[in-house]
Amino acid sequence: MPQVLDKGFVELIDTFGDDLTVVNAARVSYNKEVTVMDPKDAKLIKYLAEHNHVTPFFHPQIRLRLKMPIFVAREWYRHQIGFARNEVSRRYVDYKAEMYLPGAVRERDAKLKQGSKGSPVADNTMATALIDDINKRAEETYEQLLSMNVAPEVARTVLPQGMYTEFIETGSLAAYARLCGLRLDQSAQWEIRQYAAAVSELLEAKFPVSWPALTPLPDPPAPALPVPSASPIVTPQVFDLGC
Ligand SMILES: Cc1cc2nc3c(=O)[nH]c(=O)nc-3n(C[C@H](O)[C@H](O)[C@H](O)COP(=O)(O)OP(=O)(O)OC[C@H]3O[C@@H](n4cnc5c(N)ncnc54)[C@H](O)[C@@H]3O)c2cc1C
Repeated sequence: MPQVLDKGFVELIDTFGDDLTVVNAARVSYNKEVTVMDPKDAKLIKYLAEHNHVTPFFHPQIRLRLKMPIFVAREWYRHQIGFARNEVSRRYVDYKAEMYLPGAVRERDAKLKQGSKGSPVADNTMATALIDDINKRAEETYEQLLSMNVAPEVARTVLPQGMYTEFIETGSLAAYARLCGLRLDQSAQWEIRQYAAAVSELLEAKFPVSWPALTPLPDPPAPALPVPSASPIVTPQVFDLGC
């Protein structure tokens, strides 16, 4: 089971269907059914994905159990169409909360309104200690409130966004491709990208033809722009590449 972040995971519970399910859903238009994939079927899957004929990809279903911090789950839950979810409720359970502690506390990127730089802040040790400290204080207050007979549904109000939650999710292959396509992008938060990558790896193993067809690799990042300088304009050198 792939571990994600410091205490999270993605567990594949079950799948319904495979690449053939997609092929047979598409071929039903001609009232045809196949039992073994051949190269023609792989081409058909690629064609369907490229031309956005998505309905055949609605038929395979995947069930996962995921454990992720609340702030990641809030983003994950924004993907609604094609998914069903049921989550642990802190109205019912009151066991010890687990908190996400980032390994590196990334610094703000002045060039972006959202997002972060890949690098940690100058005082990463201090920043980590501050997060750890507030998490521990929240946990202690939570325990104290419970010991005063405060109802769990009220006591949970002091638990932070970094607290882990757990849920079961069932979704179609098409829905996961959509989610992963959006959340594997560099513009998505680093933490959710780790979950999307773990799901993607699991689904590629189960749907070796459909998954790469639905989630083509993104274009490589554009090369860094040259830094403008005040020096005189230099005529670009023309290389004869002989082709
Ligand atoms: C990098 C990134 C940054 C983001 N930042 C923010 C943010 O700052 N604030 C914020 O609120 N959200 C933000 N989001 C969430 C985003 O707006 C979407 O809610 C999220 O990506 C889910 O998209 P989805 O297409 O999978 O949605 P789903 O709700 O699962 O919908 C799937 C598809 O169904 C169709 N559909 C769904 N509902 C309708 C409808 N009412 N009418 C017509 N068609 C519909 C659309 O084709 C849609 O794409 C962000 C997402 C990403 C990836």
